Amino acid sequence: MDTDADTLTVLKSSFGYDSFRGLQEEIIDNVLAGRDSLVLMPTGAGKSLCYQLPALMFKGITLVISPLIALMKDQVDALNVNGIPARSINSAQSRWEMEEIQGEIRQGHIKLLYAAPERLALPDFRSFLHSLDLNLIAIDEAHCISEWGHEFRPDYRNLLQMRQDFPQVPVIALTATATQRVREDIISQLDLHEGQVFLSSFNRGNLSYSVYPKSESISLLMSMMQKLKGQSAIIYCLSRRETEELADGLKRRGFEARPYHAGLDAQTRRQNQEDFVRDRVPIIVATVAFGMGIDKPDVRLVVHNSIPKSLEGYYQETGRAGRDGLPSECVLFFGYGDKARQDYFVNQMESPTEQSHARQKLSQMVDYAQSASCRRRILLEYFGEEWTEENCGGCDVCLRTADDFDATEISQKILSAIIRTGERFGAVHIIQVLTGSREKKVLDLGHDRLSVYGIVRDFDRTELREIVGQLRARGFLVRKEGEYAVLAVTPEGREFLQQRKRLALPRPQSPKDEERHHRSRRSSEPIESGDYDEKLFQELRSLRRRLAEANNVPPFVVFGDVTVRHIAASVPLTLEHFASIPGVGEVKLRQYGQAFLKVIQEYAEANGLPPVTYDRLVRWEVGNEPVGRERPSRGRGATYEATRELLSQGLSIGDAAQQRGLARTTIVGHLERISDQEEPLDLTHLLPSPERLSEIEQAFHSCGSIFLRAVWECLGPEFSYEEIRLARLYLRQEGRLPQE
Ligand code: ADP
Ligand code: MG
Ligand code: ZN
Repeated sequence: MDTDADTLTVLKSSFGYDSFRGLQEEIIDNVLAGRDSLVLMPTGAGKSLCYQLPALMFKGITLVISPLIALMKDQVDALNVNGIPARSINSAQSRWEMEEIQGEIRQGHIKLLYAAPERLALPDFRSFLHSLDLNLIAIDEAHCISEWGHEFRPDYRNLLQMRQDFPQVPVIALTATATQRVREDIISQLDLHEGQVFLSSFNRGNLSYSVYPKSESISLLMSMMQKLKGQSAIIYCLSRRETEELADGLKRRGFEARPYHAGLDAQTRRQNQEDFVRDRVPIIVATVAFGMGIDKPDVRLVVHNSIPKSLEGYYQETGRAGRDGLPSECVLFFGYGDKARQDYFVNQMESPTEQSHARQKLSQMVDYAQSASCRRRILLEYFGEEWTEENCGGCDVCLRTADDFDATEISQKILSAIIRTGERFGAVHIIQVLTGSREKKVLDLGHDRLSVYGIVRDFDRTELREIVGQLRARGFLVRKEGEYAVLAVTPEGREFLQQRKRLALPRPQSPKDEERHHRSRRSSEPIESGDYDEKLFQELRSLRRRLAEANNVPPFVVFGDVTVRHIAASVPLTLEHFASIPGVGEVKLRQYGQAFLKVIQEYAEANGLPPVTYDRLVRWEVGNEPVGRERPSRGRGATYEATRELLSQGLSIGDAAQQRGLARTTIVGHLERISDQEEPLDLTHLLPSPERLSEIEQAFHSCGSIFLRAVWECLGPEFSYEEIRLARLYLRQEGRLPQE
């Protein structure tokens, strides 16, 4: 059997995904080959799959060492919900519970056993392990073994003994630690020198970074919270008092927020954390103690209300945003008062070396905050990674410089118009004059006879308003509040005019532009807000929360945001269609499919989404376009064309995916779209062998279905989803698919 098809099949049936990400496939192959691996990938890259999938393919059991009970519990829940037999043994369990679990494990059905490192020191546990058919040891959060790391756990040292006790069992160690020193330490501590090191970039492409002045924090926070629409945010503060005050302030303004800090009693802390993880409150206002033990994948915003101590800490804490790969924001508010507070802490330190170390770290952090160059570059270079892109497209500096334009002339025109009309009018009138309006007031005042009348052609009124706003922000204009809001030119503004200075301003943005930016920095996931119906999305989220509460698991264990967005964008009305959504594995389909379909059907009826025809359904399935809903065209044509170009040059799906930086499934999706067009593509070089093709064709007929999942189930695990999909495409072109 082709192992490649095999892992892909398990990937879909047990985890619901169609393709591997990044280095996952290579790592899994290495693990399956029985070799050691060290996996260095950033948060959210999908490290867990690298041991979870092999665990399913091994005959015996995989031991997973994980530092925190809460983390273990979430992971075990998430696996169980996917129908994967996993258990944990931990100190929160009674003796009786533990024995029951051990009994279950002895029966041999359990594939993954999670345990904390301290357990490895217990002789009972060790002899229990020896009685098992242990195939793999996975060490999650492996940086905990290093004293140089920020989360050193002495108990991780028990792993050395473990290594000696089970010399024949391969080890996979995983961490998101970006520092060189810690990485080297892991390798030497675990004696991994013969293992393979898998290192991916630590760039978090879905995160955007920005810094704002602290003086703006309150108003900006409000607008950010508004924009979140109930999705999750973490706000980090320096002190306990600050967290309490900010949480109160947010509550007074109508945003559900909870504080979290070491001064709260354990019960309250646990409750606040759980309410956040379970989506009962969207915002947590915390000291940096918060977040170590949680793996919430759908945090959309991480705010630092004060400057943190080091870039290392900052990368770590912002890393808690967007683990699921969806676009998320990291915002830092910077003010000198906060820097002074940090300086004070540094000065309190006793050891001079410690002090100078801390001072250096703080100053690197301040440099980041004040930088005029790409923030992503600073972060990555701090960790020794080279970043060569001119413009990252996902930090405030790059977005600004990408868009700065020479505003000298337009600003001169605006200021002159204000002066010529006697500094007695507001922005609306000034803009009318500049754009040559035939408005009665303009004509009555004789402003159409001024030299500035109608001299602006290349900006529309909205853009001009924005430039006027920029000029106010620069201090060139003031608004005199009187009966009417009147604009006047300040001394700085006059100086600018007289000295013929040059001026660059951010290019005014129409909503279209903003979309363009966002698109430009997202490489993979096609689903963005705007691709789906927000109201439906919210209904699906609340269904997810109800199901989660009923099963006593966090909502993201039911389905992640990526999946919920896909559902909202594609409006599946049948189980077959639902099954094709990324993140829907077999067990989740059985467990939650009907509940979701019911909500979707009701929503579709109430909102007049037309019933889905068979043909459109298939087309959806292949093209990932929302059904029953016109969507503004976003120039998808160009992306299909680019794919067509590559494939018609004879490239394979994999090569085309690599060239375009897209997932294989996306490429196949494009292909299916293209084949709807007049000039279908020659598919022959993409098809499975003639024998396999004919087997697939027979399956389509004998199952009497054109749905992938049904046919895939008929065919069994030797066939991959992708080849069936490609075959279906070909058979459709040839008119050889069964009619319904
Ligand atoms: P890490 O441990 O590296 O921080 P996780 O293992 O928690 O990351 O995975 C992050 C997210 O990515 C999870 O929501 C997971 O389900 C998802 N994921 C992992 N692998 C894939 C894949 N091949 N396709 C789609 N999603 C994936
Ligand atoms: Mg992880
Ligand atoms: Zn940048």
